[in-house]
Amino acid sequence: MNYSSTRCTNNQERVSAAQAIKQGLANDGGLFMPDSIPSLSLSDIENLIDKSYIERAAEILSLFLTDYTKEELLEDCKAAYSEERFVGGAAPLKSIDGKVFSLELWHGPTCAFKDMALQIMPRLLCRALEKTGEKRDAMILVATSGDTGKAALEGYRDIDKIRIKVFYPVDGVSRVQKLQMATQIGKNVDVCAIHGNFDDAQTGVKKIFADAKIAKDLNDKGIFLSSANSINWGRLAPQIVYYVSAYCDMVKMSEIKLGEKIDVCVPTGNFGNIFAAYIAKMMGLPIEKFVCASNKNNILTDFLATGTYDRNRKFYTTMSPSMDILISSNLERLLYTLAGAEKTAAYMKELNTTGKYTLDAETKAKIDENFYGYCCDEEDTAKTIRETFDKYGYLCDTHTAVGLSCARQYAAEHSTNKIVLASTASPYKFANDVFSAVSGKTATDELSALTELSAYTGTDIPAPLAEIDKREIRFTKTINATDMPADVMSFAD
Ligand SMILES: *Cc1c(COP(=O)(O)O)cnc(C)c1O
Repeated sequence: MNYSSTRCTNNQERVSAAQAIKQGLANDGGLFMPDSIPSLSLSDIENLIDKSYIERAAEILSLFLTDYTKEELLEDCKAAYSEERFVGGAAPLKSIDGKVFSLELWHGPTCAFKDMALQIMPRLLCRALEKTGEKRDAMILVATSGDTGKAALEGYRDIDKIRIKVFYPVDGVSRVQKLQMATQIGKNVDVCAIHGNFDDAQTGVKKIFADAKIAKDLNDKGIFLSSANSINWGRLAPQIVYYVSAYCDMVKMSEIKLGEKIDVCVPTGNFGNIFAAYIAKMMGLPIEKFVCASNKNNILTDFLATGTYDRNRKFYTTMSPSMDILISSNLERLLYTLAGAEKTAAYMKELNTTGKYTLDAETKAKIDENFYGYCCDEEDTAKTIRETFDKYGYLCDTHTAVGLSCARQYAAEHSTNKIVLASTASPYKFANDVFSAVSGKTATDELSALTELSAYTGTDIPAPLAEIDKREIRFTKTINATDMPADVMSFAD
């Protein structure tokens, strides 16, 4: 199976999966998409029902990554989704109220759903280097506002032929996030704080990527730069797996019959997670509708309702920060799927120049067949956390709560299907806000919020976050953004 760009109209750039994963972004600035979507019949699904998550993952990935052998994929899935890394299983499905089922994607090393992709993608990249005849090592550079950096560090640590360096704004991440990164283990990792905000860190990284002199100097040392960005196909493909897995579990739990339709609700930021679910439907997974859940930054709700994407609007900081976003980069893949490369290229050009675009009627109609957008404000998020815990004993994080509120709004208006809700973070990852929501009190500080939440709810702090303040600090450096290139060069030695 080959991959081509969402903006490529004459198929000139067709690459293998390994090349797409190594390269990240297509040369024309578009995103890689497979030339065709493999199909999954009901009997294929039936065959997966009695398999483990690891086996399901290897099967699904092998349909897309045809230049990887099944043995390679099974080996990588075994390492990525091991019991040691995902205590209690990779993507367990739990009933919240008999109607909405929580697909818990946060049992990995950093307690958020990014682990589902970032635990396996580095292994796929390592093999891609070999498969594409790459002699150099890769250096992954990440600018992070907190969560992605930690998840990438955990995914890439101790992977052969790859090293990773993460920059974060010294005053722009929470105390827990800072501790998580400063105590990172692994022999190929480096973490560095930047004076300034997230934009300073990100601009610094972008400049390094665009700097021909740095590229040449690194090349002389046998190294090339790469990113761990969420637009990489190697991050998207592993996300398809858990929707198929959730469907299998719904059948296995006798919640649905094989072939019966479900709806899927996803708390959305960059549109990657929900688009992976849409691919699962294109493959043949019986999904009726998708509910795209947004917080107060409801640009996607408006887009799905009107067909106009308009980023010229106010940005809000919320208690579900991973959904605070104005540009959803993976939306480009949906446009490509529905409207083709030519229209997609035109829409993206409009977005770049005017900050907005409007879908034609035909494309909008295709969106309406599949997607509903809903949103939820801060007050409603907190209320959903409190009421769900009081009524059902189920504790959810702020992002999952946004999703749950939207799933319920949708169900009240439209649906009789059972709904699988992507639960994207552990409540302990956002302990401060979850504790306030559930108890009506304020935690003493961010670290004690973990123990206070545990005591109040009678639930356990996940191992990766427990006693984080007692671990060895390995990284203490803070530098100016202007010194980032020199810092990168010194990490090359
Ligand atoms: C990244 C993230 C999201 C958004 O996922 P997208 O794929 O960007 O839509 C939602 N919740 C949490 C906790 C996240 O970390």
